[in-house]
Amino acid sequence: MDKALVPKVKLNNGMEMPTLGLGVLRMEDGPEVEEAVGWALEAGYRLIDTARVYNNEKGVGRAIRASGIPREEIFLTTKVWNEDQGYEKTQAAFDASCERLGLDYVDLYLIHWPGGVSSLNRETWRSMESIYSKGRAKAIGVSNFHAVHLNALMEATEIVPMVNQIELHPHLQQRELRAFCKKHGIQVEAWRPLMKGKVGEIPLLTTLAAELEKTPAQIALRWMIQHDVVTIPKSQNKGRIIENLNVFDFELTDMQMAAIDALDCGERLGPDPDTFRMDFS
Ligand code: NDP
Repeated sequence: MDKALVPKVKLNNGMEMPTLGLGVLRMEDGPEVEEAVGWALEAGYRLIDTARVYNNEKGVGRAIRASGIPREEIFLTTKVWNEDQGYEKTQAAFDASCERLGLDYVDLYLIHWPGGVSSLNRETWRSMESIYSKGRAKAIGVSNFHAVHLNALMEATEIVPMVNQIELHPHLQQRELRAFCKKHGIQVEAWRPLMKGKVGEIPLLTTLAAELEKTPAQIALRWMIQHDVVTIPKSQNKGRIIENLNVFDFELTDMQMAAIDALDCGERLGPDPDTFRMDFS
């Protein structure tokens, strides 16, 4: 596809973010992640989503440098892990992530999980605000935050998060949270958009895919993009990396969108943000 054609959305600070990127969860550091990121950048991806806890920031950074693509054309996201929450720990975690990535700045830094409504959360956010004010993260945001977590954060801090990255796919559509985020100017970004490949087992998506000469994965990605949701499908297969990007040459009709909207059943495939904890010490 024409690499200039991947559309972008404008975040609440005026920064632009590609609407589709590559997620690299469960890719091993070293050749595995480097190869996948390399294929993606070559295909036209400009957004890469990693996290400290994925243990592959070094390989992601190496692949970005090896691509020869100017740094300012790439949108790199990483995240502060739960055990690193708190003002000082977040500063140190951010520095360590930059060091592993071999980058001076990241484009988006996210709080990975909320860990309840807590003062720790707010301290972490103040630390993110200081990183942002120094220009070391061009945008800051959160992940897995419900409205209750966002409200508590926004009441006590200065900057409204630019992004909320949440589990979102045809079986978990997060309508209320999407509306809440829209009202506050927070861009929603979908993780697990392909339901780890299970979108291929949903009859409506396979029917639409056949009709439109697309794949169920492409239908699911197109559906969320038409709902103004940024999406980060993961693949370490070159063909599927290319397939997942090729969603900008067709459009779903209102009726097709409504049919997919009707698939929502609240099925969560990942942890529930209300109960998930992996060390919020
Ligand atoms: P996805 O929904 O992206 O599914 C990935 C799986 O689908 C892989 O097994 C992949 O296999 C397969 N797949 C990829 N493309 C296709 C295709 N076209 N057709 C059929 N199967 C396909 O799940 P993830 O959990 O990886 O979510 C995406 C990203 O979201 C993560 O990589 C990570 O960056 C982020 N994330 C964030 C979280 C958070 O808490 N903030 C939590 C979880 C994920 P193969 O590789 O063999 O192609």
